[in-house]
Amino acid sequence: MSGVTITEPSRETPVYGEFDVVVVGGGPAGIMAATAAARSGSSTLLIERYGFLGGAGTAGGLSTFCGLHARTHGEDVRVIRGLADELLDRLVKLDGLNTPHLTIADGIAAQAFDISAYKIAADELVTGAGARILFHAMAVGVVLSSSGAIDAVLIESKSGRQAVRGRFFIDASGDGDLAYWAGVPWEKAPPINGMMYPSLMFRINAVNVAKAGPAPWRTVERLMEEAEAAGTHTFPRKKPIVRPQRNPLEWRANLTQLRNPDGGAIDGTSVDELTRGELIGRQQALDAFTFIRDRTPGFEESYIVDIAPQIGIRETRRIIGPYQLTEEDVLGCADFDDTIGVNGWPVEAHVAGTVEFRWQWQERGFNQLPFRIILPGTRADGHPVGNLYVAGRCASMTHGAQSAARVTGPCFVMGEAAGVAASMALSAGVAGDVIDVPGLQRRLEDEGAFLGRTAPEAIL
Ligand SMILES: Cc1cc2nc3c(=O)[nH]c(=O)nc-3n(C[C@H](O)[C@H](O)[C@H](O)COP(=O)(O)OP(=O)(O)OC[C@H]3O[C@@H](n4cnc5c(N)ncnc54)[C@H](O)[C@@H]3O)c2cc1C
Repeated sequence: MSGVTITEPSRETPVYGEFDVVVVGGGPAGIMAATAAARSGSSTLLIERYGFLGGAGTAGGLSTFCGLHARTHGEDVRVIRGLADELLDRLVKLDGLNTPHLTIADGIAAQAFDISAYKIAADELVTGAGARILFHAMAVGVVLSSSGAIDAVLIESKSGRQAVRGRFFIDASGDGDLAYWAGVPWEKAPPINGMMYPSLMFRINAVNVAKAGPAPWRTVERLMEEAEAAGTHTFPRKKPIVRPQRNPLEWRANLTQLRNPDGGAIDGTSVDELTRGELIGRQQALDAFTFIRDRTPGFEESYIVDIAPQIGIRETRRIIGPYQLTEEDVLGCADFDDTIGVNGWPVEAHVAGTVEFRWQWQERGFNQLPFRIILPGTRADGHPVGNLYVAGRCASMTHGAQSAARVTGPCFVMGEAAGVAASMALSAGVAGDVIDVPGLQRRLEDEGAFLGRTAPEAIL
């Protein structure tokens, strides 16, 4: 950036609408936040910059739900319930959900979905709850009131610049955009030896299933290791994930790692770095695909059917709230009085050149997620932002904890809790940090959520 600035003329900004709850970001956290707020009786708007919901799950092409399950006392059990049950039911009706499969050296269950089906199921869930969606609108700033609360979020779209007023806001942008603009404390890991590396996902089609055999993902990993040992290839990332989709002709491939020239992680809040990430990501995808097609039995006639619409960002800003979930909390399966749900995913750290996994120390295999991790801290000027929750991968977690609880399951949990809690705050006329937490817990449990206060029901 040149550092040169221009002064824009001041302007009158038209108000798009006024809502009880405004949610920014339509990923796993935002889908559940908007659905829960609307179900709780709040007029709700969900603002999403793309033309579909799903966040990294669709725009980043992940096509697998992680963190819905925990390996608890040796059994794989679904620990994310509540609104997630309804989303999964809708996916099943659309024939868009695989049965769970074991992943990470068979240590935990994950569940693959069809990306188009997820988009439709999410539309249905959110609009069926009565929330409105505004697609193709990018939030670009906030207007604060004199008390420090957020009065409006500014959006830009093909309709120009507009303001959306709200009584309560939920930041589910993944990058903590609203929190950042509102001036609440946040942090970002350093790009070198810190922030997790992004990846660009792609899908391969026309795999010869019979020829590929029962577990060709192991073949791909072995072939890559052999090629590296022979010195013929250097891959940007070890531990590839190459797995079949709902239709086994189609495979997802997660084996790129996106870096800057200095070796640091591409930062998803820098437009220049995002651009670089797309360019090198597509080149890495092509190189990886060519290797797989040329060497793996069953892939000879395959082709790249889709490169994800955008590089997948694992980590950027995380807010610093009254409590930051820590890696010790995750590994030690911590409990909290203000639990809003659980995380069963292990620490999955995308470090330079590879992925490191660290497993829970306790047989129970999941930690509770405290309500306090969706609460913003106080601004430097002493003003609290009393009408904001921050849900999803940008919630109040340390780098190590976020390396686990950033996956879809726990983001569903945070979103659902934020949506119910926002409505409760509005009904009670109180700030977001002083709601009746036992009341929130009762409502979540009444609606089928699992808060980790009992043993989980043994369902897959
Ligand atoms: C390459 C990769 C692979 C992964 N693999 C898996 C996996 O297999 N399974 C799994 O469960 N998790 C996986 N993850 C983790 C995944 O990121 C999280 O599960 C999850 O998507 C985070 O949810 P979220 O709602 O917090 O944010 P996101 O999913 O990032 O969603 C944020 C949403 O907000 C929108 N948005 C952002 N800023 C704005 C703005 N200013 N205005 C309007 N809209 C905005 C975005 O377009 C997006 O839709 C992976 C991540 C990456 C990057």
